[in-house]
Amino acid sequence: MKVKLRNPDQVREVPGPAPVFRVLEQLGINPETVLVIHESTLVTKDHVLPDDAEVEVRPVISGGAGPAKCHRCGAPAVMEVARHRAAYCGEHFVEHVRTQVREAISRYGMLSYDDRVLVAVSGGKDSLALWDVLLDMGYRADGLYLGLGIGTYSSRSEALVRQFAARRGATLHAVELAEEYGFDIPAATSAVTRSSCGVCGLSKRYVFNRVALEHGYDVMATGHNLDDEAATLMGNVLRWQTPFLARQSPCLPAQEGAAGRLAKKVKPLYRLGEREMAAYCVITGLEYVVEECPMVGGNTVLRYKDALNAIEQGSPGTPARSRSARPCSAARCCRQPSGTPRPRTPAR
Ligand code: SF4
Repeated sequence: MKVKLRNPDQVREVPGPAPVFRVLEQLGINPETVLVIHESTLVTKDHVLPDDAEVEVRPVISGGAGPAKCHRCGAPAVMEVARHRAAYCGEHFVEHVRTQVREAISRYGMLSYDDRVLVAVSGGKDSLALWDVLLDMGYRADGLYLGLGIGTYSSRSEALVRQFAARRGATLHAVELAEEYGFDIPAATSAVTRSSCGVCGLSKRYVFNRVALEHGYDVMATGHNLDDEAATLMGNVLRWQTPFLARQSPCLPAQEGAAGRLAKKVKPLYRLGEREMAAYCVITGLEYVVEECPMVGGNTVLRYKDALNAIEQGSPGTPARSRSARPCSAARCCRQPSGTPRPRTPAR
């Protein structure tokens, strides 16, 4: 069979028929870090691929294993979530994602249905899926895209974000870093000693906050997922960054301080892994940028994710338990009522 690998793209020949887990074993791939797609459908590790199959192995960094039938309806499963010891058909997996987002929002009082929400969208799976889920749940969610000037990676990302906004009839703000501030990420990186991701993260935080305040949004939502949060936590523990550890929370209230005003910031995907978010996009047909950012080299968070994936493989759920379960530091924020659900917006 032909197996298409991504990042970097290459095609490998593997003898079949063979179950997915055996194919991955032959390729030396950790099944927890990928999705396997055959004939436009996700397949589980026990699914047997014929000799003439054409298969895509898409990296997502995380994941799990479990029974091959949906635990809700008994239909063939397309996605397993090891830490929940569950498998889902497409329909019930989408429901699982929405349930996790709803639980996150309710546990931390992240959003009210009266809030105007600004979603930071990069064109990647997490932020686009977050925007999609919030719109489906009836939140008043607009998007903000920040043009980083990273060649074709940025132009492709912007095209996908605009395409999504047009399809959903959603409001999108777009800010081009070079036009507004006179620099882009490649230029800024070569001018300072910080890493490209350090410069990029700082620029994103500044611009997202500025746009949220200028346009009167009540809350800013980002697509940070469980793996992002666990890796950040791990990095802060290893480097003994106690101030960052104290501040890490899925819900940060609005603040006024030496750095000026900071909008309320929430991470509704903190209960969902990378693999789940990639699967959500594949199942719902949501197109996102699969390619890695060409400036990601040296990003330490990726190394922490690798380490956490190795732990997850042996002890499913460990990174999820490591994720901070502390309540939001502001009681006022946590007590904010979620409001009355609005009817869903028209689907795609
Ligand atoms: S990988 Fe780094 S440079 Fe590229 S978009 Fe992400 S944070 Fe920015």
